[in-house]
Amino acid sequence: MDYKKKFPIFSNIESHYLDTAATAQKPKVVLDKVVEYYENDNGNPGRGSHALSIKAEELLTDARKTVQKFINAKKTEEIIFTKSTTESINLIAYSYGLDYINEGDEIILGISNHHANIVPWQFIAKKKKAKLKYVYLDDNDQFDLNDFKYKMSDKTKIVAVSAVVNVTGVIQPIKEIIEIAHKWNALVVVDAAQSVLHFKHDVQELDADFLVFSGHKIFAPMGIGVMYGKEEILNKMSPFLYGGDMIEFVTEQDSTFAQLPNKFEGGTQNVGGAVGLQEAINFLEEIGYEKINEVEARLYEKAMKEMNKLGFIETYSDENVEKTGVIAFNVKGVHSHDVSFILDSYDVAIRSGHHCAQPLMSYLDVPSCCRVSFSIYNDEKDVDKLIEGLKKVGEIFLSKDKSEN
Ligand code: PLP
Repeated sequence: MDYKKKFPIFSNIESHYLDTAATAQKPKVVLDKVVEYYENDNGNPGRGSHALSIKAEELLTDARKTVQKFINAKKTEEIIFTKSTTESINLIAYSYGLDYINEGDEIILGISNHHANIVPWQFIAKKKKAKLKYVYLDDNDQFDLNDFKYKMSDKTKIVAVSAVVNVTGVIQPIKEIIEIAHKWNALVVVDAAQSVLHFKHDVQELDADFLVFSGHKIFAPMGIGVMYGKEEILNKMSPFLYGGDMIEFVTEQDSTFAQLPNKFEGGTQNVGGAVGLQEAINFLEEIGYEKINEVEARLYEKAMKEMNKLGFIETYSDENVEKTGVIAFNVKGVHSHDVSFILDSYDVAIRSGHHCAQPLMSYLDVPSCCRVSFSIYNDEKDVDKLIEGLKKVGEIFLSKDKSEN
């Protein structure tokens, strides 16, 4: 199956797109669905009694059901639409953190967390005089469960971790993390931004308290994200954004708030985004995780083999740990942005820099690196072009160095 054909961008432009971990390209079925919504069904959900408003509300509810099924949440009320993973984590930090984290409490973060799962907690820790603690990495560059056990205590109120590390693609032991945290009555925030494209998340089986992800990383449009929370926890939290349909009654001086999920969806919801996310989930499930991972693994193997042959690439991909199709690497002695810039002239798109994970980069003592990430629409030609571009990087930077020495 030529999956590339399902993504119009690859017919419209020349691109060897190896940056899916930043954002995935969009299949035609998703794009068509969003256009169909705006061409036929656009209305403000829950705001009117006319047909289009009612239709938009129905579509939103239907999309919510698809997300509920996707992560096996108990109820649709536990699915809150946000604009992104970042907004979802901010929602939890503000709405839970401001009310329930107090002076002397502790928040535990993985050192590999994305900034989106660090900075909101720094804000709460400063505001509430709580303490932030980090769990470092074991020999496989994975979240160190022994370090974690050592740092947990009855002061720990929140544990926030990524299910998959965005820089390296390392899969984290989420189930064990949740089991350990719950022994201490701490709540766990699972950042699934990098993992929902790679394996099933069953929030009931995991017993996750919160789980968040962005639509744009799983073939959906930008501007739609998900915050899952257990109903009993969401019910005791304050709203995050005030105004719009999240109210019950408003008087001049006071307001009461709507039930879940509206309580957390202030303002007009992104129905077009939700409809696109629903279609993206259907698309993903139709292909299946097995196929996605098979394609990624095949290209990963080929790329690693050929990059190692070049002799001037340093990879940060530990072979002993379960990973997604991500390769973090540097061309020895060359800044990652220079590598990315040269690859771009070969129409090869990769990510370079600190990957919004500066604490991890400092911990590993790697100021910046390149990241290749594969997906279902990539093929061997993309890897060949990557290698061709990397050879050019070698030619430009490394042979120049030799002549200067
Ligand atoms: N968490 C992880 C692990 C990520 O990889 C990203 C984005 O790359 C985010 C959070 C933030 O996602 P967004 O920018 O969609 O809010």
